Amino acid sequence: MLNKVEIQSRLKFSLESTDGSESPTLAESDADGHEKPRVKYGELVILGYNGYLPQGDRGRRRSKFVLYKRNEPSGVKRSKHYIVQSPQTSKAILDANQHSISYTLSRNQAVIVEYKEDSETDMFQVGRSSESPIDFVVMDTLPGDKKDAKVMQSTISRFACRILVNRCEPTKARIYAAGFDSSRNIFLGEKATKWQDNVEIDGLTTNGVLIMHPKGQFCGGNAKCGLWRECSVGGDVFSLRESRSAQQKGQPIYDESNVLQDGTLIDLCGATLLWRSAEGLQHSPTKRDLEKLIDEINAGRPQCPVGLNTLVIPRKVNIGDQINQPYVYLNCGHVQGHHDWGQDKSTGARRCPMCLEVGPVVTLCMGLEPAFYVDIGPPTFAFNPCGHMATEKTVKYWANVDIPHGTNGFQAVCPFCATPLDGNSGYIKLIFQDNLD
Ligand SMILES: [Zn+2]
Ligand SMILES: [Zn+2]
Repeated sequence: MLNKVEIQSRLKFSLESTDGSESPTLAESDADGHEKPRVKYGELVILGYNGYLPQGDRGRRRSKFVLYKRNEPSGVKRSKHYIVQSPQTSKAILDANQHSISYTLSRNQAVIVEYKEDSETDMFQVGRSSESPIDFVVMDTLPGDKKDAKVMQSTISRFACRILVNRCEPTKARIYAAGFDSSRNIFLGEKATKWQDNVEIDGLTTNGVLIMHPKGQFCGGNAKCGLWRECSVGGDVFSLRESRSAQQKGQPIYDESNVLQDGTLIDLCGATLLWRSAEGLQHSPTKRDLEKLIDEINAGRPQCPVGLNTLVIPRKVNIGDQINQPYVYLNCGHVQGHHDWGQDKSTGARRCPMCLEVGPVVTLCMGLEPAFYVDIGPPTFAFNPCGHMATEKTVKYWANVDIPHGTNGFQAVCPFCATPLDGNSGYIKLIFQDNLD
C-alpha cells in the first residue's frame, strides 16, 4: 500500500519532464482548497551531469533531486538501545514498522538501537538501490560524455546515506552514513568499524560517506575548498581514515558538524553530490538566465577567423555537430569554427591561426546545470580539457576543489562532466572574435 506522501511524490515524478528543464512544482491544497506552494529545502546534484542523465531523468533516477517538505513528518530519532544474542530474530528487526540499527559485535552479540518517529524532521535517503525507501537513486558516475559508459563494479552502497531536515528550521539538514532498507533496518556487520563512547554506539560504513564544507560562502565565488571529513552512522564527524575502507576510524572533529551548508559536497565513493540550500539557490542563475547569457554571446556574432562564418553556441547539449559549432584551442583560448588549418596529422594537435600556439582543440559547450554556478555572469571561461563554459569565478572555484577519486586520491574535475582537469590551471579564458560590425 502506498501512503499519501508516496503517491504524491510518485505523481510529482511522473509530471516532471525528462529533458532537464525546470520541474513544475505540484502545489498541494489546504483544507479550503487553496493551493499553497511546496516548501523547498534544497537540492542534491550529482557532479558530472549537465542538467540531466544522458538516458533522460526517470523517476527516482535523475541528475538532481529536489528535497521538498513532506506532507507528514518522515524523520526518525534514536530511542532505546540494548544488547541481543541473535539480532536476526530480535523483535525490532523483525518488526518492519520499527526503524532500528543493528551493530554486530560478535557472532552472538549485537547492539540494537531502536529509532522512533520524529515529528520535527523529514528524512530523505540516497543510495544505489531502487527499493522504495531510497528517494534518490544514484549510480556510479564516469567522466566524459557517458554515451557508452558502463560501470562494471559499483562502489556505491545500496543504502548509502540519509539526510534529516528540520521541518521548522530547514537550514538544519543533517547527513548520516547508511540508510534504512525496506524492512527499516540498518545492519552493520562484524567487520564494520564501530565503537562505543560512554553509552552510545556508533560506526562507519564500508566505503564511508565523506563530506566537505566549503570555507566561506559558495555563492559569490570566494569560498575555498575545505577539508574532507567522514560522517558516521550516528552523524558525528571524523578525519579521514588512512584509506577509504580502513578498519581504524579517523580522529573525532568536535568543532565541525554534519549540518549541510550551501555548497557542501557529499562523496559516496563512486558519485559525488553537491548540496545547494534553497536560500543559496536564490543567488544562483536559473536555466533561463544561462540561456540569456548564451543568447548575448551569440548576438555579438562571433566569427571564425578562418572560415569567416558566424559561430553559434548551442543552447542545448547533445545537439550534434553543427556547421556553426564553435571550437576552442585549449592552450590559447581562441574560439574558431571547424576547419583543417594547422592540423598535425600525427598528433591531432593544431596550430592556432591567430597566435600560432600548438595544442588540442575541443568543442565548446555551455555548462547548463545552474546549481554548479557560484555567481551569475557571462560564461567567458571554459574548463580544460572538456570545453564546458562557465563564469570566471565558477571555473576558478571548481579548479581548486579536490574531489575524491578511486579509494585514495583526489582530483579537480569539471562539475558538468566529471572529466579530470588538465593544464596548469584547469581552465582557459575564451577569446572570441566578435562584435565586429
Ligand atoms: Zn590562439
Ligand atoms: Zn566538462
